[in-house]
Amino acid sequence: MDTTDILIVGGGAVGCTLATGLLQSTGHSVTLVDANALQQDHLSTPGFDARVIALARRTVEALSEMGVDLSNTAWPATPIEHIVVSDRGFLGKTHLHASEHQLDSFGQVVSIQALGAQVLPKAQPRFALVDEVTVISATQTKDSVVVTLSNGKQICTQLLVLADGGRSPVSGALGFSRTQHDYGQTAIITNIQMSQPHNNWAHERFTEHGPLALLPFATAVGNDDSGAGYSVVWTLPHDTAENTLVWNESEFAKQLQQAIGYRHGHIVKVGERHAYPLSLQQTDDCVRHRTVVVGNGAQALHPIAGQGFNLGLRDVMDLVSALKAQTDPGAFSVLNHYRQQRAADKAATIQLTDGLVTVFSNHHWPLVVGRNLGLLAMDYCDGLAKQFVRQTTGFGPATRPLQN
Ligand SMILES: Cc1cc2nc3c(=O)[nH]c(=O)nc-3n(C[C@H](O)[C@H](O)[C@H](O)COP(=O)(O)OP(=O)(O)OC[C@H]3O[C@@H](n4cnc5c(N)ncnc54)[C@H](O)[C@@H]3O)c2cc1C
Repeated sequence: MDTTDILIVGGGAVGCTLATGLLQSTGHSVTLVDANALQQDHLSTPGFDARVIALARRTVEALSEMGVDLSNTAWPATPIEHIVVSDRGFLGKTHLHASEHQLDSFGQVVSIQALGAQVLPKAQPRFALVDEVTVISATQTKDSVVVTLSNGKQICTQLLVLADGGRSPVSGALGFSRTQHDYGQTAIITNIQMSQPHNNWAHERFTEHGPLALLPFATAVGNDDSGAGYSVVWTLPHDTAENTLVWNESEFAKQLQQAIGYRHGHIVKVGERHAYPLSLQQTDDCVRHRTVVVGNGAQALHPIAGQGFNLGLRDVMDLVSALKAQTDPGAFSVLNHYRQQRAADKAATIQLTDGLVTVFSNHHWPLVVGRNLGLLAMDYCDGLAKQFVRQTTGFGPATRPLQN
């Protein structure tokens, strides 16, 4: 039977980043197992699909410390310097400027493929990549966990990390229970080009159907680099979202334009559309005997505030930090320390995201009035804006300083 110090199930954005972090900052051997053909072409696997995501300022800094250069990719990252949050058809609106928060940007917008191209570890003696097989079961003993793969092989590890996106049956079998709350919404994502430049503005607009986010993105459609590209995340009820997928391009552009408004002119081009049903999923705990669950495996969030990978990366950085200089990476004291370190940040980020979905997907008048007053208040009250910016950029009070 093969042995490894740490076995990671799942080579999506979180699992790959964790493998890279562990190899850089600890002396442990690492095995990464994924169901897809990562060695052949990991950028066409579901974890690295057409998604474009916003990386919080904290995430950009942490990735940069790991040597990830987001400007050095085929699709360079685009900084978010200004954010406008508005409620379509109402007065509530708030404007945030990075410079007013002593930042050069709130974060960067990047294609998840560009990120993936840099975070899959290169071949090296302490690293084994086992792909095109799934982990089908795991058995915990006092000093190890033995996992069984779909090809019949077994691997013995001191620490098992589930970065499986919540999609493997292993976490349930190991005693993690997972709850799911369906938001009744599907996110339609696409890239568009507008007639006027984005000037590094991101927009979060609340419409009668659900939230709509426009992220400035350099190479929006057809490798266009005109500075007028956006990545769109349009949240709609499931049945309306299904309809948008069958609309022809001009009908889709017309409907999207109505939802966006004309602040940046008219839509010139629309790219491919992809749909993601949305729910809040979370495990009851992130640690069991010699096992940790991280990233979407531990919590999958609504994309309304763009926090899913950002929170997953903080799982990664805290786990790497907890495992530094530890001879037994699966020891109870080590994992318990990790669990305690993560609790407040996870709770605060999940609460913020879920709260925004509830408040901004609701048509009850008291809530509509309340959220518009909230947006106006944030525009005028420096303290409120500061609090929101700190949490969403990854520097919230519940977020521990990252230690690499
Ligand atoms: C529309 C949309 C927009 C988003 N926007 C943002 C944003 O702006 N900012 C942000 O921070 N986040 C955003 N997110 C969230 C972000 O994309 C995810 O949080 C992140 O990609 C999750 O990565 P992961 O590695 O945890 O999981 P996954 O990408 O799901 O990877 C899990 C991997 O585990 C493998 N696997 C599962 N089970 C097994 C098994 N038994 N054996 C072997 N392999 C297995 C799978 O093959 C897969 O490769 C967005 C998400 C969506 C849907």
